[in-house]
Amino acid sequence: MGFLKGKRALIVGVASKRSIAWGIAEAMHRQGAELAFTYQNDRLKSRAQQIADICESDIVIPCDVEFDDQIEDTFSQLASHWDGYDILVHSVGFAPREQLDGDYLDVVTREGFRIAHDISSYSFVALAQAGRSMMAGRNGALLTLTYMGSVRAMPSYNVMGLAKASLEANVRYMAQSLGPEGHRVNAISAGPIKTLASAGISQFRKMLEHVQSTAPMRRTITPEEVGNVAAFLCSDLASGITGETTFVDAGYNILGMAELSGD
Ligand code: NAD
Repeated sequence: MGFLKGKRALIVGVASKRSIAWGIAEAMHRQGAELAFTYQNDRLKSRAQQIADICESDIVIPCDVEFDDQIEDTFSQLASHWDGYDILVHSVGFAPREQLDGDYLDVVTREGFRIAHDISSYSFVALAQAGRSMMAGRNGALLTLTYMGSVRAMPSYNVMGLAKASLEANVRYMAQSLGPEGHRVNAISAGPIKTLASAGISQFRKMLEHVQSTAPMRRTITPEEVGNVAAFLCSDLASGITGETTFVDAGYNILGMAELSGD
């Protein structure tokens, strides 16, 4: 019997079989959770549908998190299938492509800043708020995905780093807010993985190569590895953990200096 048997999870953020959300869905399904999915737009509908089929789910709901009415509607539709739910996975991030290419001060704009924070950080609390009544009395778990560009300056990551810093603060404030109701809120800070979203970051391939050659484990990580940690953090096995950001990055974040080569 899986350790998520009897839990119901809403997964926001599948776009392809490379998506981190797909790694999370697979792991949660393996551990016995029932799943529901959202997709951003019609272009992604059939992929979300395929992934739902594999996970034996028939709940696939459109939701562009830029729009309050779509967020509200997601939970109205979910309520027609389930009387409540236990897990919210927020695996959503976006900044306009030109924000992620070039020097931070050269490319940042007011609008780019607004969009990155709105879609990548505000949407997490907006979903939590809209789904709060359906989680009542269930000791729920909420999880989001972040990246180390929130706490260290990185080439090209630019305004997304600021949005991720906001998201991690969001995790702490949401944990404080929802803790008295028995709900937990956590983040996973994943190392770089090739996905549709990361393809928008200039020189992403070089980032992967850098991690591969310098991380303590001398490799990058997989969506499956993130999925397993996500399943744990959203299960009762992690009942004492909230407000945390857990790194799944082959140890890259612990380095002060990579190994020195030569004599
Ligand atoms: P992905 O492209 O597979 O997933 C990103 C998702 O965000 C997509 O499903 C997309 O539809 C969704 N999205 C974007 N704008 C949206 C909107 N307005 N409304 C609804 N959904 C929207 O890429 P991924 O790498 O799996 O990204 C998932 C999360 O993981 C993101 O928050 C990303 O920042 C984070 N992350 C990724 C990496 C990496 O290297 N891939 C590393 C650390 C953290």
